[in-house]
Amino acid sequence: MHYKRTNIITSAPKAPEASVLIIYTGGTLGMIHDKDGTLQPFDFASILDHVPSLRQLELNLTVIAFTRPVDSTNITPTEWQEIGSLIYEAYNDFDGFVVLHGTDTMAYSASALSFMIENLSKPIIFTGAQLPISSLRSDARENLVTALEIAAAKRNGKALVPEVCIYFDYKLFRGNRSKKVESLYFDAFESENYPALAESGVIINYNHPAILKSEIAGDVLLHRELDENVAILKLYPGMTKAYAASVIHTPGLKGLVVETFGAGNAPTADWFTTLLASAIKKGVIVVNVSQCPGGRVMQGRYKTSKQLKEIGVVSGMDLTLEAAITKLMILLGEEGDQQKIGTLMQTPKCGELSLD
Ligand code: ASP
Repeated sequence: MHYKRTNIITSAPKAPEASVLIIYTGGTLGMIHDKDGTLQPFDFASILDHVPSLRQLELNLTVIAFTRPVDSTNITPTEWQEIGSLIYEAYNDFDGFVVLHGTDTMAYSASALSFMIENLSKPIIFTGAQLPISSLRSDARENLVTALEIAAAKRNGKALVPEVCIYFDYKLFRGNRSKKVESLYFDAFESENYPALAESGVIINYNHPAILKSEIAGDVLLHRELDENVAILKLYPGMTKAYAASVIHTPGLKGLVVETFGAGNAPTADWFTTLLASAIKKGVIVVNVSQCPGGRVMQGRYKTSKQLKEIGVVSGMDLTLEAAITKLMILLGEEGDQQKIGTLMQTPKCGELSLD
């Protein structure tokens, strides 16, 4: 992949308080209207024309822009590896990182990065916009400027938010707890099962008890291997055996996330339980997450989930779908033991799930 590197010289009178690396991957934030009326990515080097206030920040800013910005709908694990490598290689040179990314798959990317980077002690803040930065009413400027402030924020010399987060519409969320919930208004993200880590207004009000403490067990590590042999099976009333079987029998499948109803409930029809049970017997890790954005999977609470527990379906507890599928890809990339992966899926790694 090719990048364009730009340093933004701030004109603030004081010496920079912190250094932040901005990684521009694409998305609406950096788009302009093309002749045919569709939105197309623009050259990020012109960012200062759109947000001249960046010059006033007392920050040392470096921008690494993908030379081919991507609509996040086209994001793949390859881009996650690129973002991860850029951060990993520059880790010691910056106090924080801001990733500019389309909103459509931002929650997947933020989840993936949270699992890929271990021993994190610095902020990695994803942000984007619902309206292109060239639009008069764009939300891009506020999202970008505040994301930069959060990425640079320190207390007693330590990063205030040593986590992978999403900052959007005045709220900071843990990345692996977030979901895109809105495509029209500015409040695009929600974190139903975990409180916001900060809210910005006249001040940025940090929710300190909710923020991960960086308990560093060693040097920062990058887990680059992801296994894409995973699938999602969304349940719905009337689901046919042919549909379920086509997903469960995907050639090479190693991990399956089943999006169940309510507290983790699924149809009790024999054919469905048998399909899942035979996949598990063959070594597929099957994880149960709920279609409800809030609440948690409690296998065995209802009769309609008891059978899942009995055949060895792993409870995804209060994991988001985005966190479940990306965590599964990363665990499968490094680990082959079905039992161990099942246990790790249920063990919090970086605040993605609550045990009760
Ligand atoms: N399709 C765009 C993307 O995800 C939407 C956005 O940026 O908000 O890249």
